[in-house]
Amino acid sequence: MNAAAQSDNLPPLRDVIEKHRLIAKKSLGQNFILDLNLTRRIARAAAPLENCTVVEVGPGPGGLTRGLLMEGAHRVVAVERDHRCLAALAEIADRYPGRLAVHEGDALKVNWQKLLEDTNTDETIIVANLPYGVATALLTNWLEAEPWPPWYKRMALMFQKEVAERIVAEPGTKAYGRLAVIAQWRTRPRIVLNLKPEAFTPPPKVSSSVVFFEPRQNPTPSCSPQTLARVTAAAFGQRRKMLRQSLKTLTPMPELLLHKTGISPELRAEALTVAQFAELAAAFDAGAGPPR
Ligand code: SAM
Repeated sequence: MNAAAQSDNLPPLRDVIEKHRLIAKKSLGQNFILDLNLTRRIARAAAPLENCTVVEVGPGPGGLTRGLLMEGAHRVVAVERDHRCLAALAEIADRYPGRLAVHEGDALKVNWQKLLEDTNTDETIIVANLPYGVATALLTNWLEAEPWPPWYKRMALMFQKEVAERIVAEPGTKAYGRLAVIAQWRTRPRIVLNLKPEAFTPPPKVSSSVVFFEPRQNPTPSCSPQTLARVTAAAFGQRRKMLRQSLKTLTPMPELLLHKTGISPELRAEALTVAQFAELAAAFDAGAGPPR
């Protein structure tokens, strides 16, 4: 059954913003989406929502929150840093009894599993129009979740277009780097929606994209995500240099590590596949080359 509602009988978001005097703060990355048709489209990118608890970071005046609830999300658990937004969000919670919980705080400091302790739905998913200043830090935390498969079943997240392109980038391209490797090793990310600056109030300088992430059950080759982060930091830290040079910040004898994995020491970071990075990380942990 499609649980989507035609309207939520709440005031238009423009009126909500005016009533609660939610003048956008740049420091909090506040670019609001006021068109409920659009927020409902974003919500649908993460469907089905009926048996889901949705984690939302930064609900702001509640445009995406309302979209998620109208599209049938069983429950939304939202974390918002801006105290000014809480009264507006309380009105949405009143409209949907028992379906919206709002926590005031910094999403970077949240212990998600603790926050969701009494969740009783089949699935937890993450859907957010992320504040751009902390978007990659939040994503990296979610991608490095332990244990794996993670506590969330999938994510639909809005980023600046340029960041979205870095997440889905392929080897041999300029956008390919650390973010692509960690994201693609553990999930299958794909861009599902592009939005022009005018979709937001106030409009940001750049376009945005929604990326859908489906976690891989068993990322292969298997390796430690922390080691993978160290290997990619070394390799892409000096991306113009050959690996035999750039990996010196990781190990004094990169050739040993590269030899063990059959990777040419003359390649540059950008030529390696995601799997090859994971192989390097696994070999490093297995002790190929003396530790630093
Ligand atoms: N979801 C709303 C929408 O789509 O219109 C607002 C999205 S706006 C891009 C980002 C939101 O994240 C703002 O409401 C902002 O106050 C909030 N925010 C910024 N930094 C935050 C943080 N560290 N933790 C939680 N929320 C944060």
